Amino acid sequence: MFPFFSYYCIMFFFFSFFFLCLSRPCFPARAPPDLSTVLTVDAHNATWQGFVRFLHAGKGTHVSGMSELKTYFNRFGYLPTPSPKEEFDDIFDTQFESAVVLYQQNLGLPVTGKLDSDTILAIMSPRCGMSDHTSHTLHTTRHFAFFNGQPRWFRPPPMTLTYAFSPNDTIDYLSSSDIQMAFRRAFSRWESVIPVNFTETMDYQSANIRIGFYGGDHYDGEPFDGVLGVLAHAFSPENGNLHLDAAERWAVDFKLEKSKVAVDLESVATHEIGHVLGLAHSSVKESVMYPRIGPRTKKVELKIDDVSGIQTLYGPNPNFKYSSLLESENSVNQASGQERRFSRLTLVLGLILLRSFLGTS
Ligand SMILES: [Zn+2]
Ligand SMILES: [Zn+2]
Repeated sequence: MFPFFSYYCIMFFFFSFFFLCLSRPCFPARAPPDLSTVLTVDAHNATWQGFVRFLHAGKGTHVSGMSELKTYFNRFGYLPTPSPKEEFDDIFDTQFESAVVLYQQNLGLPVTGKLDSDTILAIMSPRCGMSDHTSHTLHTTRHFAFFNGQPRWFRPPPMTLTYAFSPNDTIDYLSSSDIQMAFRRAFSRWESVIPVNFTETMDYQSANIRIGFYGGDHYDGEPFDGVLGVLAHAFSPENGNLHLDAAERWAVDFKLEKSKVAVDLESVATHEIGHVLGLAHSSVKESVMYPRIGPRTKKVELKIDDVSGIQTLYGPNPNFKYSSLLESENSVNQASGQERRFSRLTLVLGLILLRSFLGTS
């Protein structure tokens, strides 16, 4: 009896243990990466975040949904619009490869013609809504650029341009004086390098530059897309319209505004004023006229590239000294070299984790 009982007893414990293992794995299931720590961008903008699945897609491949990426490239000036009867397909063809090369040149990225991590990261980042297509699209040097025909404002000297804020199209969580001060500082930076004065006026309709916050489609052919993605846009001279996406969480002080997706108002204002004056996008990453800016990032100081560009259009402000700009830029470059290498590594690791997570979910 005893051996028989013992046999069943062992079998019972063996199977109990086996089923226990099945229902409760010995090792805890791998938790998905905490996306908020991997990538702080585009938590609400699924379209661009999803582009991570094209990481390392190569020429000649067919990847489902690639047409969305082609639409993105078309929107920002890298692919021609297909004829009415055609649509973008999902094939990584030669034309698309050329578009990738052009994008990499314009964004100052390593030119590989491939959807590498640098390129995918750039594509997913929040950016200005203006197209990167300019009269200088084919240049190979990293440089500022103008709109086609090199338009600028013409007024008898001393040139004064007025600006006003839309009384209706605004946001309620920032005071008007905070918004006014952020723009005042942004205008001052351009004012200090060219012989142009900017004056605020209350008369919105007659102002040269009209500033407003708009949500979604606001009937100028460039609808906004919600949180992050496209942040703002402005039009070339002498249109004067400068629009900010009302869906963003605009910040004037990151110590007070804790949102992970907060966008610095003054930085975007400085960039868009550059467009209003006639500058297109620059391929110099450090410049204010570079088309991308991350959330919780402040980039307000004009760089040599921005100053050279705007002075080509308007000439220099007699009080501006190039030497001081050169000095400050050199010291900043030295200090930030190390930091950039570290943050790039972090972001590449983030992309890989995000891709593996999306691939398994
Ligand atoms: Zn822009
Ligand atoms: Zn608009």
